Amino acid sequence: MSYTVFARKYRPQTFEEVIGQPHISQTLINAINTGRISHSYLFCGSRGTGKTTTARILAKCLNCETGITSTPCGKCSVCIEVSRGMSMDIIEIDGASNRGIDEIRDLRERVMLAPARGRYKVYIIDEVHMLTPEAFNALLKTLEEPPLHVVFIFATTEPHKLPATILSRCQRFDFRRISTQDILKQLQYICDKEGITSDSNGLLLIARAAQGGMRDAEGVLDQVMSYTGGKEVKRDDVLVVMGMVPEDVLVAIINAIINQNGNVAVEMVNVLINKGVDMSQLTRDVISHLRNLLMVKIGCGEGVLDITTESKDILKEQSMQLSVESILKAIDCLREANEQMKYAYAQAGTILETTMVRLCRIQTEIPLSEIIEKLSQMEQRMATSYPELYEKRECSEHLQVRPLPHELYEEKVEEKEEYTETERHDDYQSLIPISTEMSLEKIIQLWPAVTDTIRIKRPPVASHLSCGRIVNLSDNILTIEFDSSFHKSGVDKPEYRELIEAKIHEKTGKALKIKTVLAQEQKTLASTVTVSQTKKMPSIHPVNDPRIERVMDMFEGNRVT
Ligand SMILES: [Zn+2]
Repeated sequence: MSYTVFARKYRPQTFEEVIGQPHISQTLINAINTGRISHSYLFCGSRGTGKTTTARILAKCLNCETGITSTPCGKCSVCIEVSRGMSMDIIEIDGASNRGIDEIRDLRERVMLAPARGRYKVYIIDEVHMLTPEAFNALLKTLEEPPLHVVFIFATTEPHKLPATILSRCQRFDFRRISTQDILKQLQYICDKEGITSDSNGLLLIARAAQGGMRDAEGVLDQVMSYTGGKEVKRDDVLVVMGMVPEDVLVAIINAIINQNGNVAVEMVNVLINKGVDMSQLTRDVISHLRNLLMVKIGCGEGVLDITTESKDILKEQSMQLSVESILKAIDCLREANEQMKYAYAQAGTILETTMVRLCRIQTEIPLSEIIEKLSQMEQRMATSYPELYEKRECSEHLQVRPLPHELYEEKVEEKEEYTETERHDDYQSLIPISTEMSLEKIIQLWPAVTDTIRIKRPPVASHLSCGRIVNLSDNILTIEFDSSFHKSGVDKPEYRELIEAKIHEKTGKALKIKTVLAQEQKTLASTVTVSQTKKMPSIHPVNDPRIERVMDMFEGNRVT
């Protein structure tokens, strides 16, 4: 007796037997029972989800000798012929290999002929999206005025490639991917019927790898049976047949990542490569393991997990050692690697090795969200310390930390409910500018802006000015010290001073006079400076300089000397 593959042997023969598409079966049953049969159907969905099977059942329903029925007898010669794919009235065409205009013209001519035995001629065109535009045009003519005895069923995995003119003339049905649990049930059913003893972990592995395609799952089961030559499905055999990485190896790889042992991870990958494991498959397996870790981590139920009970404990333990962010980043990294491998397969080994090293460092990388948070805290502090800087940027939309005017402040506080006294105090602290008086350090802070505006009007003046140092501010007189008289004289002309003072006013909002001194003079002057004046001057000793304190505060730094 010849061997029939499981996919054919266990192909559903009635709507009730179709797995995972109750929404489609029910609609078709109702349509048949009420006599509302369309002349063109479009079945969309990924492979192995039951499109052709459903098309054949529909054909049987229309032509069964017992009459048009949603429950074909399965015994009459028509039903048997359709099931065997031998009916003259059911014409199955592969759109990929009959895609030209000649084939469709030929089809149009034959469409006109009456069915040989049944009531309807059913044309099932698979992969219909492969037809050429000319072929679609030719087909459209038939679809516009189909003969009464014809039903078209188009099947496609890519409905978006069909012209709108075709789409609008079809009744569309979207086939869902079949759930792992449904596939598992069917595999179990086949094993029971065939007298195959099965280790449920093995079947689960097949069901998961099929990714919603029943035909693929049944195909793998066939392969496993051929491989073992026996009557048993074991998990290890499935792994070998599918070229998948055993779970304990995946667990070990993830452990290496958790422990940041780049060398261990790379060595393990190399052992697998030398054993001939397909690297894309390996990448996908690691992704799938990480996906399970993520599901455990965020607290998903077992239905989502599709894992064996033994591995659940291991997953739980591993998931506790990785953050959600790290897992997500690791999955992204591996996906990226998988994409790269498609285009540079010769380098797949290197890509995977470097990816492993990256994964081992993933936990030490500071998350972007944390960096953004730090920056925004820093900006907040800047805004508090230097409100005048932020007011200048009023128009900038992204700036939200600009201090509020005092009168608005009260409203702002009232908006917030359940304020504690500390919070209220803190809010005051962050909203009120610490000082409204112009200090030396603020001038120094704003000085580049001042010289920049001068540079626009008189570049040489700005150049001379930038060779000077601001050394003192007292009684609205700003002292600028120069090392050479050449630069000093470059700013000393009255018209230049006026310009400089005007720009200082413009940028700082303060009317200050400038005084220029030579470094030599300043030193001799220093001995005559009174005590009160020295107090006003900021100390320039690096250890005590308040500016350094402020910088350290802003960047949360510490002294290291
Ligand atoms: Zn029948």
